[in-house]
Amino acid sequence: MDPSSPTAPTKTLCAELLRGAGAVLLTRDGRRFADELGTRDYVVGRMLHEADLEQGSGGLGKGTGVSLQFALVLNEKGALETEKHVALYLQKGLLQKITGVARVASWLKRTLGGDKVVNDVARAHRNGRSLEWALRQTLVQYDAAAAHGVCPLTNKTHFHNAPFIAGLEKPGSQKQAGPVFYVGRVTPVTHYTMGGVRVDTHGRVMRNPARAQRTGQQTVPGLFAAGELIGGVHGKNRLGGNALTECAVFGRRVGRAVRLAGDEAESTERDAIDEGPEETVSEVRGEAREEAVEEVREEAQEEEAQEEAAEEATEEALEDVPEDV
Ligand SMILES: Cc1cc2nc3c(=O)[nH]c(=O)nc-3n(C[C@H](O)[C@H](O)[C@H](O)COP(=O)(O)OP(=O)(O)OC[C@H]3O[C@@H](n4cnc5c(N)ncnc54)[C@H](O)[C@@H]3O)c2cc1C
Repeated sequence: MDPSSPTAPTKTLCAELLRGAGAVLLTRDGRRFADELGTRDYVVGRMLHEADLEQGSGGLGKGTGVSLQFALVLNEKGALETEKHVALYLQKGLLQKITGVARVASWLKRTLGGDKVVNDVARAHRNGRSLEWALRQTLVQYDAAAAHGVCPLTNKTHFHNAPFIAGLEKPGSQKQAGPVFYVGRVTPVTHYTMGGVRVDTHGRVMRNPARAQRTGQQTVPGLFAAGELIGGVHGKNRLGGNALTECAVFGRRVGRAVRLAGDEAESTERDAIDEGPEETVSEVRGEAREEAVEEVREEAQEEEAQEEAAEEATEEALEDVPEDV
């Protein structure tokens, strides 16, 4: 989220790469609430759950003010690995470089009102102590989970670029020095819709079953679709990066399926190329062209024969008509 425009209706994507490089996601009061390596819908589900908790405890309503804002914290090793992204986000003011846990706690308070969270889970985690204490506790627990190989809170089992603070803090020096963090605000947004329009394997839009039965046609004539609006390609959840692959694959299939006047021969040639991987392209091209030409010739001969027959029939009919009509 851009701190200079937190209510902007469109946001900048926070690359999943950051979570992959070991960034942790925190509530405003400094708790972890999800396995950061989970799918987008899972993480968002956890965020919504946190907002529900807050609302249920008499705090902010879901989506009100900062109730759906969370913090992403990356350590220095993670930032080195995601160098280009971090540099860009720093330049845009979306990430901030902060040294020491105490300063991150101040940032949570200042930017997200972290000390005003009222829900029971937050209270229990804080145990009457300061937000700085609660945040340090979170990071200590995270490092312990990393050392152990599994997080009892979220079941996370991969802890890339851990530890966060273990061995990096020196007693009494937290305010001046200590580990370097990169922090930013994140919030759930609509990223991808999983489509909904039913198509066949050529991208022809399917009729609804009742209409298909009534009309005897499974697809809507002349209507094609490809890209994000089609449904069913990705199953229940889409793998990251596969949306553009889907656009390219189905866009191409639709392009091949749409027949424009005059391109029959060319389309047949393209189909043959795709369907004959064991043959060389030039062989297929040659055969496809011959087949297409043969098809057109046969059609022309058929048409000619039909025309001749029609002419003969007309002549015969005229012969039967009396002269004075
Ligand atoms: C921030 C972000 C990052 C992403 N990163 C990745 C990634 O790294 N890898 C990946 O695979 N996918 C990624 N995706 C998903 C992917 O970009 C989209 O799924 C894909 O671009 C959708 O392409 P599309 O052509 O189906 O739809 P769109 O690109 O949405 O095109 C639809 C077009 O239709 C136009 N339109 C809408 N209504 C009308 C109308 N009534 N009349 C005329 N035109 C209209 C729109 O203006 C738009 O130009 C990302 C998505 C987002 C939002």
